[in-house]
Amino acid sequence: MNDKTFLSWPFFSEQHRSLSEEVSLWAETHCAEFQHNNVDESCRQLVSALAKTSFLQYCSPERHSENGQAFDVRALCIIRETLAYYSGLADFSFAMQGLGSGPITLFGSALLKDNYLDDVRQGRKIAAFALSEPDAGSDVAALTTNATKDKDTYVLNGEKTWISNGGIADFYIVFARTGEASGAKGLSAFVVDADNPGLSIKERIDVIAPHPLATIEFSDCKVSDLSLLGNRGDGFKIAMSTLDIFRSTVGAAALGFARRALDETLKQVKQRHLFGAPMADLQLTQASLGEMALAIDASALLIYRAAWTKDCVADRVTREAAMAKLHATEAAQKVIDQAVQLFGGRGVKSGEKVEELYREIRALRIYEGASEVQKLIIARQTLNS
Ligand SMILES: Cc1cc2nc3c(=O)[nH]c(=O)nc-3n(C[C@H](O)[C@H](O)[C@H](O)COP(=O)(O)OP(=O)(O)OC[C@H]3O[C@@H](n4cnc5c(N)ncnc54)[C@H](O)[C@@H]3O)c2cc1C
Repeated sequence: MNDKTFLSWPFFSEQHRSLSEEVSLWAETHCAEFQHNNVDESCRQLVSALAKTSFLQYCSPERHSENGQAFDVRALCIIRETLAYYSGLADFSFAMQGLGSGPITLFGSALLKDNYLDDVRQGRKIAAFALSEPDAGSDVAALTTNATKDKDTYVLNGEKTWISNGGIADFYIVFARTGEASGAKGLSAFVVDADNPGLSIKERIDVIAPHPLATIEFSDCKVSDLSLLGNRGDGFKIAMSTLDIFRSTVGAAALGFARRALDETLKQVKQRHLFGAPMADLQLTQASLGEMALAIDASALLIYRAAWTKDCVADRVTREAAMAKLHATEAAQKVIDQAVQLFGGRGVKSGEKVEELYREIRALRIYEGASEVQKLIIARQTLNS
């Protein structure tokens, strides 16, 4: 089923509509090939497979679009929504190539762009974004990994945790304290290769929807000062500008999961009989379906409003992106929970699609700014408007 009527909304160009078709066709044909137990290997294969399409071009765009923006956020959202509909791992592999190279696209020197971006597009290098620490998740300004300047190198010491692609990435964007000021103003961002002898994987982390995740340790990890992104002290700005783009796309992934949950539910309630009739005939079932469809359309409107605004109207979309992420992830959690409920016992059986979606959606309400953080961002922007 996979409702595509939103593509007729005025947010999109003809190019977006044909991209949506192209991604759907690819995902429908290929995503099932990568569903096996070794997530590291699946992700490597997914990145290679995605590199044979045009999709990774949107993660690290070669040239700026007509309106001067580096990223086509509507395209990123369409791709994530569609991949997530078919496979959480496919969406993850795609998204991390973008998030993990976004700071280079936005702030990298010509040298860094040459050294990394084509490899990201071609699937030769896997990217990761290393911001969070054991004692600095929501409170980014509390991070303590430090980078000390020593002639033409920086020496990094500290620990990053919850790092997606940790263990399989070829390079990490690492945010560290360089001490220009206290709090958020004293941070800088570096590109650090995974084979740097000062970088090690301290622990691999297993989560309810498996994907490569690790804690990373930096011990006298020396990087050239050519690896610095932007200027010293730009770290917080670099992190927030990148998240400003990718936050709406987290909402889009949640939307893809929610649409899939609704479609699975529609099939189930038409075929499952209760009290002598299809479940779909019961008014309480219809009430759930009505709520699910409404939540999905509201999410889509917020996501594509944020993406269109970023592409066509405003340089920063902090408020719109926070609203899109907050609403879409919370709504998807509720929609998927309703789906599981309507499936009855089958809904919690391992291997059922709605059971998988139930596990997939959970972390999206936590990472790239937990829901509480999004509420605070929206409130701050509203108070200042
Ligand atoms: C699957 C997964 C993948 C991730 N991938 C990455 C990655 O690739 N790179 C990276 O850098 N990080 C990554 N993260 C880390 C993620 O961004 C953090 O988990 C998140 O920012 C929350 O930080 P924390 O876990 O330290 O929770 P804490 O900061 O300790 O917060 C705990 C909870 O407190 C609540 N809260 C937050 N702020 C407030 C407030 N002001 N008032 C009241 N309550 C509040 C929220 O509910 C939050 O979940 C990932 C996390 C997960 C789970």
